[in-house]
Amino acid sequence: MNRFDYVRPNTIAEAVAAAAEPGAAYLAGGTNLLDLMKGAIAHPTRLVDVSRLPGLDGIARLADGSWRIGALVRNADLAHDPAFAKTFPAIAEALLSGASGQLRNAATVGGNLMQRTRCSYFYDTASACNKRVPGSGCDARDGDNRLHAILGWSDGCIATHASDFCVPLTAFDAVAEIEGKTGRREVAVDALHPLPGTTPERDSVLAPGELITAVRLPPAASVFARHARYLKVRERTSYAFALVSAAAGLVIEGGTIKEARLALGGVAAKPWRARSAEEMLAGVRLEQAAFARAAQAALADAKPSGDNAFKIALAERVLVRALTLAAAGTPVRVPALPASPFSSPAGVALHA
Ligand code: SF4
Repeated sequence: MNRFDYVRPNTIAEAVAAAAEPGAAYLAGGTNLLDLMKGAIAHPTRLVDVSRLPGLDGIARLADGSWRIGALVRNADLAHDPAFAKTFPAIAEALLSGASGQLRNAATVGGNLMQRTRCSYFYDTASACNKRVPGSGCDARDGDNRLHAILGWSDGCIATHASDFCVPLTAFDAVAEIEGKTGRREVAVDALHPLPGTTPERDSVLAPGELITAVRLPPAASVFARHARYLKVRERTSYAFALVSAAAGLVIEGGTIKEARLALGGVAAKPWRARSAEEMLAGVRLEQAAFARAAQAALADAKPSGDNAFKIALAERVLVRALTLAAAGTPVRVPALPASPFSSPAGVALHA
């Protein structure tokens, strides 16, 4: 039996102080951490239960047009908030494509950002894994690695980041608000998860004891509402992590793309913003050839980390399809199979 302390602070300051101790971990929805503890992969000596901290469960539109989502908002509650889903349809679609209904009811916004990889060797304590035990090796390199990274990987780790939610957050320049011992700071979601390099055990740039308290979307993120989609290809239609996913947002004027946002999921240790592709799309006419050129640019640096060369071609196709769906228009309702490639490409403009 692994013994650990359990504390339930009443304020953010108390939580940060309690979690500053080495070996402490925050507990919110528990949908990842409790599995890690039961599997003997994580051994926190202190659980700091932040699930009842006041003031972190709101969804608010701020005076400057940005949106703040408290870190304790449940994934399902955010996806089904009508005003939020209308403003950020690709984010709602990404949330509803993740996990299962039960998990979405429990999982929190902050926890989603902090979830750990789903590499099967990471979850198998009989396997060598540099992320779990630094310096032990990486059994995925010569193992079952068809789901692993094609961008930004290192010899030390080829795992991918599992979140759907983080993909459109990265595309639309979301920022994480963080409280720590030295006060408050902000980190772009795009910069929250470092690439593995020689320190794959490091999943985020958070310092010990730092707590994500909210995610904020800037005013400019809402201009994509009429043409924003999330597309996810996986090995079964629900309750599976992405082989490859993509978030796409377009601003279209008179048949020309004024602005584009693109990010990929399932391809790297972090959500992968495709800035070069965005730049190629700005100012060009809406056409499949432009989408194909942009997708090739987005994957220009991709290389297989094992038996996963197919993911490079797949990612290009997913990007083209996501752009095609976004160009057709955001559907009035999230499709019955959110983010599914089987949903109709013909959208209906959300804001006529
Ligand atoms: Fe561990 Fe990363 Fe290798 Fe998976 S890919 S076994 S998480 S080091």
